[in-house]
Amino acid sequence: MAADSQLMSGLSIFDELESEVRSYVRGWPAVWTRAHGATIWDEQGRAYTDFFSGAGALNYGHNPDDQIAALIGYLQSQGVLHSLDMATTAKRDFLDRFQDVILSPRGMSYKVMFPGPTGTNAVEAALKLARKATGRRTIISFTNAFHGMTLGALALSGNVAKRESAGIPLDHQSTAPFDGELGDSTDTIAVLDAMLSDAQMSAAAVIVETVQGEGGLHTASFDWLRRLEQCCARHDVLLIVDDIQAGCGRTGTFFSWEPSGIQPDLICLSKSISGSGLPLSLTLIRPDLDIWTPGEHNGTFRGNNAAFVTATAALEHWRDDSLAQDVQRKAELVRTELESIAQEHESLRATVRGRGLLQGLHTPIDGLASRIASDAFGRGLLVETSGGAASDVVKLMPPLTINDDQLREGLATLRASVEAVVSGWNQGQ
Ligand SMILES: *Cc1c(COP(=O)(O)O)cnc(C)c1O
Repeated sequence: MAADSQLMSGLSIFDELESEVRSYVRGWPAVWTRAHGATIWDEQGRAYTDFFSGAGALNYGHNPDDQIAALIGYLQSQGVLHSLDMATTAKRDFLDRFQDVILSPRGMSYKVMFPGPTGTNAVEAALKLARKATGRRTIISFTNAFHGMTLGALALSGNVAKRESAGIPLDHQSTAPFDGELGDSTDTIAVLDAMLSDAQMSAAAVIVETVQGEGGLHTASFDWLRRLEQCCARHDVLLIVDDIQAGCGRTGTFFSWEPSGIQPDLICLSKSISGSGLPLSLTLIRPDLDIWTPGEHNGTFRGNNAAFVTATAALEHWRDDSLAQDVQRKAELVRTELESIAQEHESLRATVRGRGLLQGLHTPIDGLASRIASDAFGRGLLVETSGGAASDVVKLMPPLTINDDQLREGLATLRASVEAVVSGWNQGQ
């Protein structure tokens, strides 16, 4: 017994047996056992406030009571767990509710495709369909983009090190400058327009994140998104919005672009669509583009019934706009606090980036964002960094449902970490 519990404690088995590819466990060397809402506990029983939310897969916090109750009920009734893309009651309930709560009230007409269960699968399906529908090959993505790790999606990435890990050339892709990338005086849509005017380009689609979750929280303005849509239409190129991280309420509306009024041709959703953190992905398709033949794009794990059950429960939050309002209110609170931290510590030269509950603090000083995140871990707060290789943004993603007290407490911890790191850094200068 004693030997067993020794064997099972600590991090040694991860160091010994798990591949070198592991990453989050290095920055957060804890062994997690239990989680609820915005709190996660390690095996010593220490509580941490979670401003990471599974990189956006836990918008409703850990183990939301309503979703877990629905899941337990489904499991106890011997509900079907695996069914490829056959019809199940769980899938029907999800489709009905997605139609009633999300698509119909927004006047959106889309077909719902279930690709494999992770985000990158939703992106691959969108790329394949865009190429099939247009007969063209090139996909245009933006500077600092992140769309996933499989080859098609990786080809769209702005992160050089991650691209190189492919080991082969990643082609049939071109990079356009994201909103603001070339400074205030250069109109990046005009640059894209010139790229698309080149007859050699032969672009099938443009893919965009409205807030670049991994790439440093660069944020597209609504006006820029509208002009992007017009530019794509002018050149007869499809517009794909990858709403995998910014969607499902993260920026304050269910779809991140809603206030802009654009209508993407293809939409990728994953991360928080299941609500519970169970894997689930959707590719939404403008109906006339749904030219797949049956089984042309398939996979064993398309449609995860357990995830449908929690997703259906999660969508209850979107019957009215109370969650959206609440996210917008909390987003203001976060913005005010981050701006005050930035002002208080001039030496950080920090600016606030992002939108909704996907905001963060950018500092151009090498290594400081990572030091702030690791200091926060020591104080019981999980925050990650964003910004590709530079990792120069401290990124805050509390659960959308976090209560105000815990949100303020987490922000106070962040402030303390910034203070500690900045004073250490100032002394070192
Ligand atoms: C996380 C993410 C993906 C990839 O999703 P996986 O589930 O990790 O494959 C794609 N696009 C965006 C914007 C993401 O944040």
